Amino acid sequence: MRTIRIGQNELVVSNIYCVATNYVAHAVEMGTKVSESPIFFMKPTTAIVPPGQPIVLPDWSKNVHHEVEVVVAIGKDGVDVRREDALSYIAGYAIGLDMTARDVQAELKNAGRPWALAKGYRGSAVLSEFIPAERIADPASIDLSLEINGQIRQQGNTRHLVFGIAQIIAYVSQRFGLQAGDLIYTGTPEGVGQVQHGDKLVAKLADLIVDNRQVV
Ligand code: MG
Repeated sequence: MRTIRIGQNELVVSNIYCVATNYVAHAVEMGTKVSESPIFFMKPTTAIVPPGQPIVLPDWSKNVHHEVEVVVAIGKDGVDVRREDALSYIAGYAIGLDMTARDVQAELKNAGRPWALAKGYRGSAVLSEFIPAERIADPASIDLSLEINGQIRQQGNTRHLVFGIAQIIAYVSQRFGLQAGDLIYTGTPEGVGQVQHGDKLVAKLADLIVDNRQVV
């Protein structure tokens, strides 16, 4: 069982949804196209790396990538939520890293096989502390960034999301059903790349969260 703390409340993590290629410039760098409706994949809750824990590179991949993303925690159950009501389902926000074994993902994709392992392995869902939803005035304009060893590698703002946060929540509620404790990784901006043993990562959500990590 994995739990997160948001202010005074503790939530048991339920499902972890992730949106693929949700920033145009990242779709371009991956040589793919933005889809007409959001594309989802999932991570098991055992993938979570809580605040303060190092990022461990799996020994079966030679090319693990960072993808910095705004992560939304869902606070209540819901189905068929309208987009205009969707933000009321958010309990909090974190900055996360959707760690990706890119070489393994490419092999599986090329073979036409599901790539759950490449993005769902133990240690692939790095999560900062959460801030309560009310700390974010406008979810459609959140800065996010990732520095590695003092250099900015990824920088974005949720205004550039292809499918915005409210739209994603409404869609998940319609197709899967929302459950309190669900987490949604909302997609990464451009600049993804390999991490190496010894790297020091600093992920930021606006000026509200600073998450420091060591890669081991
Ligand atoms: Mg991602």
